[in-house]
Amino acid sequence: MKVAVVGGGWAGIAAAVALADAGHDIAVLEMAPHIGGRARSVAGEPPYDNGQHILIGAYRDSLALMRRLGVDPGTVLKRLPLALPYPGEPGLCLPPGPPLVSFTRGVLAHHGWPLSARLGLLAAAGGWLARGFRCDEALSVAELCAGLPAAARRDLVEPLCVAALNTPAPQASARVFLRVLKDALFSGADSADLLLPRRPLSELLAGPATAWLGERLRLGRRVQSITPGWRVDGEAFDAVVLACSSVEAARLAGPLAPAWAATAQALRFEPIVTVYLHSPGSALPAPMLALREGPQAPAQFVFDHGQLGGAPGRFAFVVSGAAPWVERGGCAEAVLAQALRELSWATPPVIDRLLTEKRATFACTPGLARPPARIAPGLYAAGDYIAGPYPATLEGAVRAGLAAAQGAAADAAGGGTGAKGAASGSPTKTP
Ligand SMILES: Cc1cc2nc3c(=O)[nH]c(=O)nc-3n(C[C@H](O)[C@H](O)[C@H](O)COP(=O)(O)OP(=O)(O)OC[C@H]3O[C@@H](n4cnc5c(N)ncnc54)[C@H](O)[C@@H]3O)c2cc1C
Repeated sequence: MKVAVVGGGWAGIAAAVALADAGHDIAVLEMAPHIGGRARSVAGEPPYDNGQHILIGAYRDSLALMRRLGVDPGTVLKRLPLALPYPGEPGLCLPPGPPLVSFTRGVLAHHGWPLSARLGLLAAAGGWLARGFRCDEALSVAELCAGLPAAARRDLVEPLCVAALNTPAPQASARVFLRVLKDALFSGADSADLLLPRRPLSELLAGPATAWLGERLRLGRRVQSITPGWRVDGEAFDAVVLACSSVEAARLAGPLAPAWAATAQALRFEPIVTVYLHSPGSALPAPMLALREGPQAPAQFVFDHGQLGGAPGRFAFVVSGAAPWVERGGCAEAVLAQALRELSWATPPVIDRLLTEKRATFACTPGLARPPARIAPGLYAAGDYIAGPYPATLEGAVRAGLAAAQGAAADAAGGGTGAKGAASGSPTKTP
């Protein structure tokens, strides 16, 4: 088959590699001068990341894709046991061991919380486990966790929710949150481990994929139209994978599948702001610290690049669910003030760079209808927004890319039912 992959983010790369490995003739059409999409580096010395990215041990398909492209995750990622230290407080830290035992021991050993809070969290987690980590799809994370002790909500649920779903707990889908908890905290050993990039983001996948794809990559090509048959800007292909943003996929698929396009078009977005501060000679007590968000404190996490193989003295402050700050402005100055209040510095920090990604991820709200992978026979969509168990993440994008590749190949073989679980054209809720 000759297959066009439109868009070279992690979803497009995953689809392209899977299709090429299956022996198909592929072309990746990417409108930017480089691939990587939202998970890319931007110019600087050393390069900055478009946003600080965290992977976890449960991201098995992403890690497998990196290995397939010759990247050793052990070299480019720093693996740490899940820990949420706050400035001056050790915070929750999960010891090694089987997931349930590790979680229980970690919570019981967290002496920053009163015993009642530790027991309350364990009781709630036991209830989630007993119910198979499922809940009413209309429930928000804040509603799900309303009965939890305040300390567990403030120091665990709220930061994890905004980090994983990029949506504040009162607006975030409890069902997706529970699925993330299940895969991260209660699946195989090491699933909860944090994997922090210690190379610029583009070196994790996009750079090696560029070399691997070679002439199959067509950069600077914004696809304008797709017509049945399938023709991409007039060129004939046997199948097409739309691995571009939901907005672009809706534009391209609109004339062919209006219902699918309407679902993709209806997704709303949440911004993420990354503020880089520079402070020569300074270091944090850990490569990553959680921070308490508040009306004058935008950032929820800070990363010390000096401890992550990057530039010493460079600190990335992450503001997820950043819509209010994007609206009111002054985010970088507020982060600087927060940094001065909450952390110790060897030299006064200064604002180095502000990166605002207005459409960082879709807003992962309760009951959200996400479009399925299959648009029409031979026409598939891949991306972190496609219906699936995960919020907008690298792993969600990679899995969607693999499912689209599989569906397109199955359609071409004639007997396929398309991507697993993908009802053609109709929106799908989180399973
Ligand atoms: C600041 C920030 C922080 C994040 N942090 C994390 C994190 O810690 N952990 C995590 O797992 N995830 C994180 N994410 C989410 C993660 O980056 C995304 O889920 C993932 O990169 C999405 O990949 P994708 O391939 O679905 O889409 P994209 O990366 O958006 O790729 C789509 C590609 O299609 C191209 N394109 C669009 N239209 C066309 C067209 N018409 N023709 C040709 N090409 C086109 C675009 O240029 C782009 O390269 C973060 C995202 C941001 C922005």
